[in-house]
Amino acid sequence: MEKIKIAIQKKGRLSEKSLALLAECGIRFENGIGSLSVQASNFPIEILLLRDDDIPEYVQSGVADLGIVGQNVVLEKTDNVKEIKLLGFGKCRFSLAVGKKFQYNSLKDLEGKQIATSYPKILSNYLKLNDIDAKIHIISGSVEIAPSIGLADAICDIVSTGSTLLMNGLKEVETILHSQAVLIANKNLNEDKKSILAKLLFRLEAVQKAKNTKYILLNVPNNKISEISKILPGMKSPTIMPLQNEGWSSLHSVIEENDFWEVIEKLQAAGAQGILVMPIEKMII
Ligand code: ATP
Ligand code: ZN
Repeated sequence: MEKIKIAIQKKGRLSEKSLALLAECGIRFENGIGSLSVQASNFPIEILLLRDDDIPEYVQSGVADLGIVGQNVVLEKTDNVKEIKLLGFGKCRFSLAVGKKFQYNSLKDLEGKQIATSYPKILSNYLKLNDIDAKIHIISGSVEIAPSIGLADAICDIVSTGSTLLMNGLKEVETILHSQAVLIANKNLNEDKKSILAKLLFRLEAVQKAKNTKYILLNVPNNKISEISKILPGMKSPTIMPLQNEGWSSLHSVIEENDFWEVIEKLQAAGAQGILVMPIEKMII
């Protein structure tokens, strides 16, 4: 039977979460993670473990059918793969930073300056778009030290907390883009592979929905059931079960992580008690 090949980062910031996501989709791996490729025992998928920089090209050429990689790397390496699904981890921004003493007011201040980066394509597109002429120095690692050793006036790099910039005496001045891990696919998958991808996506969506949702149980006085039910958006309508305690019921429903605290406050104000909130493992609607 046909298999689908998915490329993920071998060792780095995205590795663990990529593997965990596949595991949450119920995929079990046969051989150890030390090797270059790993077979799944219960799903037609093979995992290729690669450097993240290589993943977009492997997917574009069809050596891999799918890949999990940062949007920043996809943008830098190719515009010829399909972005299938944002995965919600590996969040970072791609920013311009200058030395603390650099008097920065606007992008215009970078005119004629030297900028170090590992992402020349994204940076040059951005500079072109903003009509700035600067010299790009391509460096493959530790870009943040470039200004202190006199190699560049500014850098353009991935930032998540900003602490690396601070440690190197830099200040962030412009955000060029926001990035997170994304599932990408080759543009010419055959029908068999498309149907395996559809199965994988179905599972991924169930996992993602579950992550954004909580199961909630609460005790409510019977005369407040309809008022409290209205506060709970739920999937359809809440489950209501009588408590042994006369005049009270237990109400079960689901709520979204986003408006979690707001909903809890409203429930309490409306007379709910004994509120329990639990994680949901998978959610199929
Ligand atoms: P490889 O050895 O595979 O080339 P790498 O060193 O290039 O690894 P990592 O540092 O592991 O890459 O980062 C992988 C991806 O994680 C980045 O491309 C980016 O999308 C994302 N990421 C999230 N937060 C950060 C961060 N603080 N610094 C760097 N990358 C981050
Ligand atoms: Zn890399």
